[in-house]
Amino acid sequence: MGVGTVWVHVEPAPGGVASISEELLAAARRFGERVEAVCAGGDPDAVSAAAGEHGASALRHLERPDEALVGPLLATSLAEALAAADDPPAVILAATTYDGRDVAGRLSARLDIPVVTNVTELAVSNGALVGIEPIFGGTTNVHTRFAGTDGPQIFLIRPKSFQAEPTGGPPAQLVDLPAADCGASGAARVTGSHAEQSTGPKLDEAAVVISGGRGLGEAGKYEMIEQLAGLLGGAAGASRAIVDAGWVPYSQQVGQTGKVVKPDVYIACGISGATQHLVGMKNSRNIVAVNKDPEAPIFGVADLGIVGDVHKVLPRLIETLQSRG
Ligand SMILES: Cc1cc2nc3c(=O)[nH]c(=O)nc-3n(C[C@H](O)[C@H](O)[C@H](O)COP(=O)(O)OP(=O)(O)OC[C@H]3O[C@@H](n4cnc5c(N)ncnc54)[C@H](O)[C@@H]3O)c2cc1C
Repeated sequence: MGVGTVWVHVEPAPGGVASISEELLAAARRFGERVEAVCAGGDPDAVSAAAGEHGASALRHLERPDEALVGPLLATSLAEALAAADDPPAVILAATTYDGRDVAGRLSARLDIPVVTNVTELAVSNGALVGIEPIFGGTTNVHTRFAGTDGPQIFLIRPKSFQAEPTGGPPAQLVDLPAADCGASGAARVTGSHAEQSTGPKLDEAAVVISGGRGLGEAGKYEMIEQLAGLLGGAAGASRAIVDAGWVPYSQQVGQTGKVVKPDVYIACGISGATQHLVGMKNSRNIVAVNKDPEAPIFGVADLGIVGDVHKVLPRLIETLQSRG
């Protein structure tokens, strides 16, 4: 059953939109009678092509005043422009990302409407959209729907909850949003931006992820994880324990308060498998775990478990892969 028009907040990426935006467009198509994309910044032609290819019929686009990544906070002006629309949708979907949360939070305050956060699944019950959120490390699900009918219903969706499904549609019809007066909140400005240097695939998009945990023993041993990631063309991840210990940056953390990954192969090395880690990787297609404790919870989700010392297993694995060229 359709729930009316759904706006999807899409995030520009080089050549189109971010993969999470494609996932959200697929989710919106399941329930929306009409799906439109809303976006600030990026190349409008590339964004409308990508949004259309994933089923959006229109793109409401707010231009970035200058293409340098400094200046006014775009989320502020986008939220203001969307709040002022005289044809509000039934539902707005945004991603649990920095930009998605920023726009949803500002819209919530501006429209005096709550946001259902941390959603990993959507369903329709009695004609209303229901957000399903796992709690207690994924052991219990909470179902939430809006009781009132006034205003758009805003849901924040966790990455990797839905599968992107291109429809091959034509570019979404481009509608330019007028720059809005944001009042005092418009005073916030981005004064600088820094693109993280990285080689290889991004952690949340890689087909192979190798993660290290406290079982590595010391910061220097994380090199083995990076080396393996390089040899397998994958990305290196980490448990929170070693992020908190300062061994690796937060951007590499997998889990409830880090990134959600869903690679073809996830290799957990010296990671116990706490529920907060599992919620970030348990949907990986194949899970391999290396842990010296046969009772470690990570083996409960592993397809292949190696009971052994990472300091013996990983060098052997690296050596074997190197010898294959
Ligand atoms: C609100 C909240 C949010 C959280 N969010 C996250 C999150 O996003 N991501 C996350 O990862 N955690 C998160 N945590 C922390 C989580 O609860 C665990 O503390 C953390 O995941 C443990 O990391 P670890 O597995 O590396 O360390 P440990 O739990 O200490 O496990 C180390 C493992 O290494 C094994 N080991 C030791 N030596 C060796 C060896 N030589 N060879 C092989 N195995 C060895 C041990 O048997 C053990 O199983 C969160 C916690 C809270 C409260």
